[in-house]
Amino acid sequence: MSHKVYNWQLNRKMEYKYPESRPKKQAAWIFDTNKCIACQTCTFACKNAWTAGKGQEYMWWNNVETKPWGFYPLGWDVRLLEKLGPQDWSGWKYKGKTIFESAGFGEEVLGWHPEENDYLYPNLGEDEVSSAIKDKDYIKIPHQPWMFYLQRICNHCTYPACVAACSRKAIYKREEDGIVLIDQKRCRGYQECIKACPYKKTFFRELTGKSEKCIACYPGVEGNSPAKERIQTQCVINCIGKIRLFGFKSRYDEAREDNPFDYLIHIKKVALPLYPQFGLEPNVYYIPPINVPDKFNLQLFGPGALKAVEYYRRASLDKKLIGILMLMGSTDKITRSFKVEGDIEKGSVTGYDEQGKEIVKVPLKEPIYIRKEFDEERNVRRFSVT
Ligand code: SF4
Ligand code: SF4
Repeated sequence: MSHKVYNWQLNRKMEYKYPESRPKKQAAWIFDTNKCIACQTCTFACKNAWTAGKGQEYMWWNNVETKPWGFYPLGWDVRLLEKLGPQDWSGWKYKGKTIFESAGFGEEVLGWHPEENDYLYPNLGEDEVSSAIKDKDYIKIPHQPWMFYLQRICNHCTYPACVAACSRKAIYKREEDGIVLIDQKRCRGYQECIKACPYKKTFFRELTGKSEKCIACYPGVEGNSPAKERIQTQCVINCIGKIRLFGFKSRYDEAREDNPFDYLIHIKKVALPLYPQFGLEPNVYYIPPINVPDKFNLQLFGPGALKAVEYYRRASLDKKLIGILMLMGSTDKITRSFKVEGDIEKGSVTGYDEQGKEIVKVPLKEPIYIRKEFDEERNVRRFSVT
């Protein structure tokens, strides 16, 4: 039996196995694709924390792939897009079918199961551009050919395909924060979740005969870090490019202007879900890349992609947007609300925790220090003087 549930990303109701039930607050991430340098520090921070054990070698709960040619596992998205068929939108409303609505007889989800070989090349296509570079193409703006880095973790979806597919009910979504976990005691290794998750973010561990996935670093999120503070996930804290933010978003119809997630996702609509047409209401939100073809952005991030790019290009007109971008990477603690004061040149942004206590304050504009070309103290010349 299936239920009619509301999916705000599709702007309509859809079929799902379980009734609509939203957590009190939803764990969410924002990734600014434009600032990522593909250093993979996030990838290894995650691996060191959670998947350095025997039998977990091939597991990358976090990976960063270069689009359009990077995939982990091989062809994870294009294979499903092809199976799903036409994915039309009429304005903000999705007219096509979701992967729940396209499931075959006796199945909960339209999916496919990767084979061992599909996991062999996690860095396939890394730093490769979309096509061969012709004479002088590289100086044209927007860049032709193009590429960008896509950061990928489990989306802790509102309507998880892994939950719908698991006949053992071993996967659950926590009421308190929407984090999706696999109960290792209940799991029997049927691998239905691996077939069902369109993002391919559950992994089977031969050694234990059970499936595993991103746990959203819940011990730290709950405040069980060594510092006894509620901290963001490891992929966020360790991000070199300061492109990531972890926290909680409100319900789609209760957005608060002072919540950085609500502001970017619901109010300004500049942070968008990945493949909303699959129907899972994923909770990792991306600021789309500004130098890729519109069609590609629209397919990945839905109908809001072009407006989001336009808005981001004019970021300097919105102090609050700048403020949130500056909060990224400025604290390991979880920011529940924020306030911007002053102008872009001299102003600042302050982040507050759940109790309204100040946890971080940073300038809206980072100061630039220009060092002298010749360093008299060390008697050396500098090639880079910024
Ligand atoms: S650590 Fe940050 S900048 Fe580096 S690859 Fe990961 S997301 Fe990108
Ligand atoms: S991304 Fe995949 S594994 Fe994560 S909650 Fe969604 S369906 Fe489940």
